[in-house]
Order: sequence, then structure tokens, then C-alpha cells
Amino acid sequence: MGNSNSGQSQGKLVVITGPSGVGKGTIIKRLLAKHPHFFLSISATTRNPRQGEVNGKDYYFLSRQEFETLIHQCQFLEWAEYNGNYYGTPCQPVKEQIAQGKTVILEIEVQGARQVKKTYPSAVRIFIMPPSLEELERRLRQRGTDSEDSIRKRLQQAQTELAASGEFDYQVVNAQLEDTISQIEAIILKHDHSSC
Ligand code: 5GP
Repeated sequence: MGNSNSGQSQGKLVVITGPSGVGKGTIIKRLLAKHPHFFLSISATTRNPRQGEVNGKDYYFLSRQEFETLIHQCQFLEWAEYNGNYYGTPCQPVKEQIAQGKTVILEIEVQGARQVKKTYPSAVRIFIMPPSLEELERRLRQRGTDSEDSIRKRLQQAQTELAASGEFDYQVVNAQLEDTISQIEAIILKHDHSSC
């Protein structure tokens, strides 16, 4: 990575992973609101936008062909196929924000989080666990954003993902939101040498 910020310390890469519906998005929203030097990477995906989702804000919504072109151009820090769609982290903004001393957060699924270990060994990788599979199902249903078929696939996938939780640097059970946020803040700030 080029170092265009002479005199300024490099930022940090933080990966938040865990099954769909576990609460990653809610946790990250709260962290961003509290810490101005945290930056959330906007992913690219080939899945259809949900109601209210905005291109360039929630995701960059791409066709499969567009996504595959970017894969071949090595434009992703990581990418994975999840539930029949591609998801990936555009590399350039992450590099730029880290060079500016920001704490960059990736909200990604487990296969992508595994790749980050290879491409960014210094990244801190946090796995968010649900209190139980029943509770995860309840949260996915309550969210109301996915079809029955998608919920079923996400729950199946969750079992494989939970089995991989031990591969990550930290495991945090999201039972009580405030508690979870405090635990994650403590982990990030422990690894974060830039000022708040
Ligand atoms: P959703 O369709 O619910 O927005 O996302 C499905 C899953 O893909 C979630 O677990 C989410 O964290 C993950 N995801 C979102 N963006 C990325 C990405 O850039 N890379 C990877 N590997 N997973 C992602």
C-alpha cells in the first residue's frame, strides 16, 4: 500500500463477520455514530436492492457481468458468492481511508472474512454470534426484508458459519445490544493507535 500521508499514522482494518441477521448492521451504525474516525466500506453486490436501499450508499448494485469484470481486474480486497449472489469489498477506498489514518470497518460474511486474513494479516476480525439459532431465526423474520426461501437459506448457511467462529480473533455474543457495542468498542480501541 502506498503511504501518501507522511507524518500521519496508518489506520486499522476491522472485519465484523457472523451470520446474516445477527445484528452486524445495527452494531456498526452505532459505532459509526460514536466514532467519527471510523469508516464503513461500501460493498458491491449482484443481489437486487431491497426496498429503500440506495445505490452507492447501502451497496453498489452491479450486474454479474460487471462484478466479474471487477474480479478479473483485481479490484476487490475480498469477494464471495453468498446465497446465489456475489458480494465484494472494493479495494481502493479501503486503502485510501487506511492511509488517512481511519479505522475502516468491513461488514462481510465468513468466506470473505477468511480471505482478509491472507490479504490483510494485521486486520482485527470479530465474529458476532447469536445467543441461539432460534433467536437468529426470530431476528431474520422480524427484520422482514427477506423471502421465506432466503430466510431458510440464510439459516442453513448460518450453521456452517457458526462452526467457523473459532477461526476469528474474537467472538462476541450479541445478546444485549449495548453490551455487545461496549465489547466491540473495547476490542477495536485496544488495536487502534490513532486518536479518537
Ligand atoms: P445482505 O444480502 O443481507 O445485505 O448480505 C448478505 C451477507 O453478505 C451478510 O452476511 C453481509 O454481511 C455479507 N456481505 C455484505 N457485503 C459483503 C462483502 O463485501 N463481502 C462479503 N464477503 N460479504 C458481504
